[in-house]
Parts: sequence; C-alpha cells; structure tokens
Amino acid sequence: MANCAIVGINWGDEGKGRMVDLITDHYDVVIRYQGGGNAGHTVVNELGKFALHLLPSGIFRPGVVNVLGNGVAVDCESLWTEMEDVRSKGVSITPENLKISDRASLLLPWHRLLDGLEEARLKDKKYGSTKQGIAPFYSDKFQKKTVQAGELLYPEHLKSHLADLLEWKNLTIEKVYNAKPYTMDELWAWICGFGEKLRPYVCDTGAFLRQAQQDGKRFLFEAQLGSLRDLDYGIYPYTTSSNAIAAYAPVGSGAPWVKIDEVVGVVKAYSSCVGEGPFTCEWFGEDAEKLREAGNEYGAKTGRPRRVGPIDLVATRYGVEVQAATCIALTKLDVLSYLDKIPICAHYELDGKQTDAFPFPAVLPDAKPVVEYVDGWKCDISGARKWEDLPAAAQRYVELVERAIGCHIGYVSVGPERDSIILR
Ligand code: GDP
Repeated sequence: MANCAIVGINWGDEGKGRMVDLITDHYDVVIRYQGGGNAGHTVVNELGKFALHLLPSGIFRPGVVNVLGNGVAVDCESLWTEMEDVRSKGVSITPENLKISDRASLLLPWHRLLDGLEEARLKDKKYGSTKQGIAPFYSDKFQKKTVQAGELLYPEHLKSHLADLLEWKNLTIEKVYNAKPYTMDELWAWICGFGEKLRPYVCDTGAFLRQAQQDGKRFLFEAQLGSLRDLDYGIYPYTTSSNAIAAYAPVGSGAPWVKIDEVVGVVKAYSSCVGEGPFTCEWFGEDAEKLREAGNEYGAKTGRPRRVGPIDLVATRYGVEVQAATCIALTKLDVLSYLDKIPICAHYELDGKQTDAFPFPAVLPDAKPVVEYVDGWKCDISGARKWEDLPAAAQRYVELVERAIGCHIGYVSVGPERDSIILR
C-alpha cells in the first residue's frame, strides 16, 4: 500500500492520532491537509502523553517528514507554542522533519477575535465554535483576504499586503461588531514575533512531495475531525469550515496528482460529540455520566465534557460511504467492558417510519434513535493483543458493527498505548 489516509468516520475524537502514531512506521511522510488548531489528537507513546493540535502525529518518529499542507489553517502563535511544548519533552523539530506549505494561509489574530464576537452575537443560537478563528479564517481564505505562509519569505510584500487587509478587516471589526480595531504596529509585532520563528519551515511542499514520490516515499494523510463535521457532507452548519474527507487530501496536501490506495476510517466503539448540533444517539443523565467517565470523554483542546451515546450505525455507515473507507479501525472497545448490555443505535425513526438513511441536516433533529442491545463481556480486555484473546461477546460486537457498516474492521484498539491493538 503506497499511500494511505487516516480519517474520522464520526464527529471527531475517534482516536485518529493514536492510529496515525501506530502506523507512521510504514510511511515516510505524514501530511495534515485541512483544519487548524481547533481540535486535538491525543498520542501516548514512550515520551509521554501529547495533545497535538496542528503538528502531524508523525512528529514523534525519527526519519518521518511531517507536512502542513496548503489546506491547513496555520496559526503561527499556536503552532509555535505547540512546537515548544513538544520539544520540551525531548522531541526534535527542525526544518528537516517539519515543512509548512508556502501556499498554506495564515490564521491571523483577528480571526480568533471575530470567532468569539460572532459566537457572542449568536447567543443561544451559537455553533459551538472552539473560538480558534477557524470559520472567519476559511471565509477570508475563500474571499482571497488572508496571507499565505510563503509571504513570510518576502517581508516588504507582506507588509503592504497586511496594510491592505488591515484596512478592510477593521471595517468589520468596528462597524459590524463595534470592537477595537487592530493597528499595523500590533499586527507587525505579531508577525515578527511568531511568523519569523516559522519562516525556516516554510517551503514549496508541492515540490518536496513530487520529489518524494519520485524517490518512492510513502505518504500518510492525516485528517482532523470526522465525516459528520465535513463542511459539505456533515451536519451543516454544525460542521467545521473545511473538508475533512479523504477525497480532499490530495488537494489540501499539495499533491493533487497523488492516488490514495487505502483509506483507514477510525470509528469509536461508542459515540461522542463535542459542541452543538443534532446528535441523535445522545445519552443523558447517569448513563451518559458513566460512559463519559469510562471513556474519559473531555475535549483535548478545551477540556469540555463531550456528549456521549451508543454507537450510531446509521451515521457510521454514512461516514464510511463519504470517506470511501477501505478498512476500519474500531477504537476504545475496552471502554465498553463495564456494561452488562451494550446498546446500539441500529436505525433511526423519522416521520413515524424506520430508516437506515442518514437524514438531510435540516431534518436530522427530528430523527429518533432505534436502540437495540447485545450482550456485554464484563471483563478487562485491555491486555488482548490477538483476536482470539477477545471474549466471544466482544468478537460478536465487532462482527455486528462490521456487517452493519459494510467495511472490514482491520484494527481493534483496546487501549491508548501504541501496542494496545489487535490486527485482524
Ligand atoms: P482524535 O482527535 O481522533 O485523535 O481523538 P482524541 O485524541 O481526541 O481522542 C481519543 C482519545 O482516546 C485519546 O485520549 C486517546 O489516547 C484515547 N484512545 C485512543 N484509542 C483508545 C482505546 O482503544 N482505548 C482507550 N481506553 N483509549 C483510547
């Protein structure tokens, strides 16, 4: 398998970081192709526990080159802070193992400000943004009103471009939101402080990837967030502002000519969701509390308690389809070990009829879950390393999910550590 994408099938936080960390060994280049620092991948390895937000998860593997592609929202400040944090735990990050696309756009301080101002204006109709500036950033990118990372290499050009953008952006900040405008001095100090630090990492990553492909190197594409948060295919408007699906990976990475051979879709053995929006299989009260505690479901970036519920086979099947997944990694199976009976959201009910089709976003809030139960296994499975080590009830659960979503489950994860995995 020459090239592979690892993507989330559900609402995000499925354990993609853990899967990338596991399989980066087989790849030479790990590429992030969309999103910004608004979510987090948690990776646990021999160096400790890391919450990565912008850095590709291959950063821990010696010899792996990590690329932030043109589709990524590069926030110089949070990227630099993250690099310093990861370095402080003994990881080497140099222009040799981290490359930032010169065509990636920069997330500027006002994007974060505007994100917060808009959520405040929306009040109880808010989207549940993490306020990292992602939506204002992508709207500016599509309006051609932000700066590309490559401009850091041309300071005179950058200064005059920023002055134009400042004039335009202050109109919105002052006139729409009645907030304090930015000054050129503030903006330039930020660029000199953080942009300068990242300058050595900025390069033509398209050219790098073309050469790497000619040299027979293998690429791993890493998504942030899951199918149901994809801008076009997710639960709009409670989506992210970019395309998280695998089909976008070649475009957002700087290698539009690349063919992806395998798409590994990561599915959690139950459901979790951060923020607002319809979440059909949601549990409340004590049941939710127990599952949240068992799975430690608190946001990697925000610490917010995640909404939780049983696995949603309707949403998961849809997620598998839009990702064109060729193989599934089922994570956190160990978390379900405390349950006597394992609940499964097998179908939806909509307008009094049972359906297996994932509804259009506007009617999704009307869908009700049809929940069925299967036997639990009630024992610790975190030490299982082979399929035969799993109790029969756990095997049946995996097989049931596999049949329902129509895609082979090739990996079953039973713990956060690198080796807590069963290959199937
Ligand atoms: P990502 O954004 O998709 O990478 O997911 P997150 O990092 O936000 O959430 C996954 C969380 O589950 C992390 O804390 C992982 O360390 C943890 N994790 C991943 N796989 C497993 C597993 O199989 N079992 C358990 N108990 N934890 C896991």
